[in-house]
Amino acid sequence: MHHHEYIKFKTRGEVDIVNITDQVAKVVRNSGIREGTVTVFAPGATAAISTIEYEPGLLEDFPDALERLFPKGLVYKHHLRWHDGNGHSHCRAAMLGPDITVPVIEGNLTLGTWQQIVFIELDNRPRDRKVVVQVIGE
Ligand code: ZN
Repeated sequence: MHHHEYIKFKTRGEVDIVNITDQVAKVVRNSGIREGTVTVFAPGATAAISTIEYEPGLLEDFPDALERLFPKGLVYKHHLRWHDGNGHSHCRAAMLGPDITVPVIEGNLTLGTWQQIVFIELDNRPRDRKVVVQVIGE
């Protein structure tokens, strides 16, 4: 059995961390699937899906960590070629990855107590985003 839905929302640019856990859990409920997996995928080369403890400290720490790893102020060949200012966004997105798969057991996401599923906007401008959520199982 399989079921999919899209989650749509608007983001601010430059590391907007959106908690989509409740929407993903709702898609799993709508699917009626009790045992299987749910895949959450962000189509787009300047966004990522991950998990984090969604609390105010980390919502500042994580963007700071990305800035240390992939500083915005460096010279990026991507920018020299396309002049869109988001070379750092693409590098961050490639490293973090566009998807996550979570086991579904007895109809529930098997997340840890403090573990939330997040969409991470890495582009340098606000975007309209659409995330694919696909549940496969029985
Ligand atoms: Zn670009």
